[in-house]
Amino acid sequence: MRDLIVAGNWKMNGNRQFIDEMMSGLNKAIFSESVKVVVCPPSVYLLDVSQKAKTVKVGAQNMYFEDGGAFTGELSPSMLIDVGCSYVVVGHSERREIFAEEDVLVAKKVSAAVRHCLTPILCVGESLEHRNSGQFFDVIARQVKIGLSLLNAENFADVVVAYEPIWAIGTGQTASPAQAQEVHELIRKVITELAGENVSERISILYGGSVNAASAQELFSQPDIDGGLVGGASLKIDEFIAICSAA
Ligand code: PGA
Repeated sequence: MRDLIVAGNWKMNGNRQFIDEMMSGLNKAIFSESVKVVVCPPSVYLLDVSQKAKTVKVGAQNMYFEDGGAFTGELSPSMLIDVGCSYVVVGHSERREIFAEEDVLVAKKVSAAVRHCLTPILCVGESLEHRNSGQFFDVIARQVKIGLSLLNAENFADVVVAYEPIWAIGTGQTASPAQAQEVHELIRKVITELAGENVSERISILYGGSVNAASAQELFSQPDIDGGLVGGASLKIDEFIAICSAA
């Protein structure tokens, strides 16, 4: 009953030639009807990707929460809609760590996205230090609670959550299916406490962190894992298609 989603986060990679190749590969691929495939290119390519996309959905990697105005370098939710986006990644650990985005800003972005009918992919995840010290449950629960704090409980199901342990991102060290499932179950429990089981059972929770064609199937078959947010492996057309087919 939950959406199965595989989203490719291209990060700051690619150029127009790469986009031509990726989109022609994705347009030829046949995906199961039960899987929603999303690609998140760098923002300068969003319009091009939207215009080329036949079956896949398009997401942005970031946005600001205001509708417009003097915010040099930023993009508004309505601009993203205007260029064909239906998703937006919010609070990715690279934004949190490199660009100092804090939970409260992330919450404002989540709420602005929902208000504009863009589906936010709210990223949460612990550092290696928090994993090793056993504090990771508290860290993740806090990120989820604050990230959703500006929404009414009935809107929680308009959000997709992505659990991305920082130690697994870009490192080749995927969380084991059991480690990932443990955290996904916790996230669903936190949402149940906030909004009830009817809502928490409808929220898709994606796993991200070195997902590849070899690890996808076992990860995605865990009861609380509803697909993936894929970085490096989403830049290789054959591998990304294989990951989408594993969902
Ligand atoms: P990765 O990135 O798959 O390259 O680890 C995932 C992400 O950062 O979304």
